[in-house]
Amino acid sequence: MATPDPSIPESWLRVTDSGLYCLPGDFYVDPHRPVTCAVVTHGHADHARPGHDQVLATEETLDIMRVRYGAQAGRQMQSAGYGEVIDIKDVKLRLAPAGHILGSAQAVLEWRGCRIVVSGDYKRRADPTCTPFEVVPCDVFVTEATFGLPVFRHPPADQEVAKILQARTLYPERSVLVGAYALGKAQRVMAELRTAGYDRPIYLHGALQRLTEFYESRGQKLGPWKPATAAAKEEMVGEIVIAPPSALADRWSRRLPNPVTAMASGWMRVRARAKQRGVELPVILSDHADWDELTETIEAVEAGEIWVTHGNEEALVHYAATKGLHARALALIGRGEEEQEELPLEEPAS
Ligand SMILES: [Zn+2]
Ligand SMILES: [Zn+2]
Repeated sequence: MATPDPSIPESWLRVTDSGLYCLPGDFYVDPHRPVTCAVVTHGHADHARPGHDQVLATEETLDIMRVRYGAQAGRQMQSAGYGEVIDIKDVKLRLAPAGHILGSAQAVLEWRGCRIVVSGDYKRRADPTCTPFEVVPCDVFVTEATFGLPVFRHPPADQEVAKILQARTLYPERSVLVGAYALGKAQRVMAELRTAGYDRPIYLHGALQRLTEFYESRGQKLGPWKPATAAAKEEMVGEIVIAPPSALADRWSRRLPNPVTAMASGWMRVRARAKQRGVELPVILSDHADWDELTETIEAVEAGEIWVTHGNEEALVHYAATKGLHARALALIGRGEEEQEELPLEEPAS
């Protein structure tokens, strides 16, 4: 391809086999295979991969990578606080809050007067576990589109969390088992329950404990909680238990007293998905922007150009085009939906 030109954004931020590559800065954003220099937006496995030489991310994201990957987290780790400007060769980079999970960031790239914002995953709703999304005006906005269809409109979080509490009251002789991904969602469910005034111990599957402890080490008030594996069956009657989604239909759940099976995910908006997973109580709680949040954000950043990735691209591309914006779908490899954000292999057998 020709030499990079600031007036042609795709000439300096390119789609490659390893992911989005910034040519004048010689770094990748969320590369899905090991590279020399990676800027990582957040700790979910489809964005943060092990094995890079250099990783630049928020301190929280670097810590999450250390928790998950140990020595494989990256050879050299450089942290950047929100708003801090870092020069990478000719490019000015800064991380802005994305409101997705603890430490999540948008990557703001500026080169010779052109500013591209790579959103990573984001949402606009209040979330007690992370810093709210910052609107950064830009020339090109690279947006995720996990829930990029008009049918996706997430209900208020407190309303969904109330369903978990209602189930407890409705079935006092059972437990309520909530499926939630280990990084972000589980801790958000805990935080939202505390916000709703729930103060009983929450029982946790072993796969959720390290990341929950990490959130607590960063000042999040999630407790009290107890390991579910250490509790007797009778002890968990009437209690809330959180486990990774894979444990819902697994032998693991047999240790619980006749659990009401719930699942906290934006996908619970789709009845068929809930049914397919055998979920009795769908809890629509998402860490991704819904259709309204996506379209509002596209307007708010005032970019002339929208690149759409990571989900239902077509509808959002079409929407942007009707608003007179240049829009295109980015064919990035290795981007999954919310359901794939957690690697199943990190769940211990317990
Ligand atoms: Zn994510
Ligand atoms: Zn993602």
